[in-house]
Amino acid sequence: MPPGSTTIVNVGYRSTNYWVVSAGRSRLLLDIGWPGSMGMMRANLKRMDVPLNEIRYTLATHYHIDHAGLAQDFKLAGVPLLVLDVQVEAIPVMKTWIKPADNYTEIMPEGNVVISCAESRSVLEEIGIPGEILHTPGHSEDSVSLLLDDGSVFTGDLTHADHLGMEDPAVVAASWRMLWERGGRRVYPAHGPVRSMDPKFGK
Ligand SMILES: [Zn+2]
Repeated sequence: MPPGSTTIVNVGYRSTNYWVVSAGRSRLLLDIGWPGSMGMMRANLKRMDVPLNEIRYTLATHYHIDHAGLAQDFKLAGVPLLVLDVQVEAIPVMKTWIKPADNYTEIMPEGNVVISCAESRSVLEEIGIPGEILHTPGHSEDSVSLLLDDGSVFTGDLTHADHLGMEDPAVVAASWRMLWERGGRRVYPAHGPVRSMDPKFGK
């Protein structure tokens, strides 16, 4: 494998994609499971040949329960949580949507690695992954996307312009436009199939 190249596998379940981005044996898990589903997550990692101890960080595209439900469980298993500064306030809000029966392990601030988007390139470089994390609000204010230098972009729930609900169309369009201008060409969403990026995703 040439230096700087990355591989991507999906360890998702229950209609949600969880992406493992790997540079050799140095890995990042993007979006972090449903609450109480660590057994399912471990089984899927194993099935896809991803040893848990090779995951260097977990990162949530945003703090909705199907995207960050296992963040603390991973921390307890030794994998630190990478948090963007624009996400910090959204973490405690998430638990208001979770029922006791969900068996959620509450995310504590201790041990979280909080960085800015501007710092993300160097943090990713330390684990061998060429790319950056960008603030892409629209679906939620705390939404971020991971953009790799090869054009792969992990957009979480950033909404297609044809499927807008409560979102502000201008904010959504600005996020898509920025991702396109910065080189995003293949979209790995949190739900649904991988697709080629079209600059008109945000219209
Ligand atoms: Zn969401």
